[in-house]
Amino acid sequence: MRFSEFGLTTLKEVPSDAEIISHKLMLRAGLIRRLASGLFTWMPLGLRVLRKVEAVVRDEMDRAGALELLMPAVQPAELWQESGRWDQYGPLLLRMSDRHSRDYCFGPTHEEVITDIARRELRSYKQLPINYYQIQTKFRDEIRPRFGVMRSREFIMKDAYSFDIDKAGMEASYLRMHAAYMSIFERLGLKFRVVDADSGEIGGSRSQEFHVLADSGEDAIAYCDADNYASNIETAATSPSTAGYPDAAEELQKIATPGVKTIEALCKFLKIDASRVLKTLIVDGVDGPVALILRGDHELNAVKAQKIPGVASPLTMATPEAIVKATRSGPGFVGPVGLELPVHFDHATLGMSDFVCGANEKDMHFIGVNFGRDLDVSKTFDLRNVIAGDPTPGGSGTLSIARGIEVGHIFQLGSKYSEAMSATVQDPDGKNQVMSMGCYGIGITRIVGAAIEQNHDEAGIIWPAPLAPFDVVLVPINMQRSEDVRAAAEALYQELTSQGLDVLLDDRDARPGVKFADAELIGIPHRLVISDRSLAAGELEYRHRKDAESRNLKREDALKLLQ
Ligand code: ATP
Ligand code: MG
Repeated sequence: MRFSEFGLTTLKEVPSDAEIISHKLMLRAGLIRRLASGLFTWMPLGLRVLRKVEAVVRDEMDRAGALELLMPAVQPAELWQESGRWDQYGPLLLRMSDRHSRDYCFGPTHEEVITDIARRELRSYKQLPINYYQIQTKFRDEIRPRFGVMRSREFIMKDAYSFDIDKAGMEASYLRMHAAYMSIFERLGLKFRVVDADSGEIGGSRSQEFHVLADSGEDAIAYCDADNYASNIETAATSPSTAGYPDAAEELQKIATPGVKTIEALCKFLKIDASRVLKTLIVDGVDGPVALILRGDHELNAVKAQKIPGVASPLTMATPEAIVKATRSGPGFVGPVGLELPVHFDHATLGMSDFVCGANEKDMHFIGVNFGRDLDVSKTFDLRNVIAGDPTPGGSGTLSIARGIEVGHIFQLGSKYSEAMSATVQDPDGKNQVMSMGCYGIGITRIVGAAIEQNHDEAGIIWPAPLAPFDVVLVPINMQRSEDVRAAAEALYQELTSQGLDVLLDDRDARPGVKFADAELIGIPHRLVISDRSLAAGELEYRHRKDAESRNLKREDALKLLQ
């Protein structure tokens, strides 16, 4: 490709709406352009990268025996009503109707459509196992689209769906996909980790996520290498304490705390640490409000809490009005002593003694509260996020926390969809058997952003070789004035291109500094500079995007290196 014909516009300024480096660099390098919130155009340079990601994913999926198909993006509501998700999915689902007032959605995922295909196409166990996949556009009306293509509303996903006669078959299909995903992320040159995960809206039993490690990641990952444990913090479990209540040293007292409504203000007022305060959160329950109780310095884990029977899912905080009505006091002064609501204590609260909590009276708190004497708890729950230093569930190590970007997610679905939609085949005895399913997603567009988060410097993107939009950039100096330079550059361009390399020839009549800056910004791995001076010595100036300095190489040596 000749730069002069490529229509690429790079930007010096950092666009103000871009919060993280990958988003900034994707806009500056001209990979994407924003159309509206969460909607992006992939410009020719960006599309080259996207196609490279797709090619690796497609190749590994094909190798794993999966069959590519392409399903419609628009899906009829009836299928979603059959699975029960039309009512469950909520505002993330973009719904629409056609000219006959029939309801449709723009697919956020394709379990219903593929299950419909499977129940029509598959008749016998002899056709199993089978794994269908597609690389296709999804829409999710995200509450907070951000980070460019990493959390957009329209994005491209590779989604695959396996069908087996039984659970053992499904587990084998799942393992095959696990192995394919390992190969994909290794081939893409990304530093990643596989973690246990929550199944979310998709459902099913076992699931694992693949995370690209990056400080800007939206997910927190708890791991322990000694224990070989890794889990999304959403599902990383804590255990009940086996020790009895600690001894009480203080008397229970009610004290005035006028206007002191937050844990932070309370700690300042009483000059104590948040770990000495009991935090009471009122959430919506199936039959009225429910109280969740945590240690003041611990964070509520919504994914765990919404699985407790009686608690509404998705987890919803009660409104201030509902709190006043249910507790007689207001937000900030609620506590479990004498509270007439269903109350669930986090495991870690039982290790506390002589603590502080709301007195269920405006502007009042209790101090010197103790379990056993002032509060009796028969059962505790896992309600909080783990923190660094917590014991691993196996108990033989301690947890560290890292941040990650979820780029892939694999699920053992079992019969969730096949049961609801009657997707059966005949087993060897001629009996109808509900198929066992797995589903497997990869965020194709998200991978591009995640790769940049991991690979960049002050000057711009540093593509891992398999993702680079071009392998080599040729920078002729003074090409418009030197016939030698022009001829050498053209010859090199033809030769490298014919060897199958993706070559960008920067044939613009621009200063070398401008060309170098653009080549660095767009992150092309190899750069060759062609000048009268280097040609006179039979050399080319070579620099890898990761090198600090360039070096002169004989023409043949440069060609050899690029091969
Ligand atoms: P997240 O937790 O990040 O919202 P998810 O768990 O809802 O994602 P899945 O249903 O597992 O997503 O979808 C499969 C893959 O699609 C994800 O692992 C992710 O890489 C990608 N993906 C999901 N939502 C988005 C989005 N809004 N923008 C870009 N990629 C996305
Ligand atoms: Mg997921």
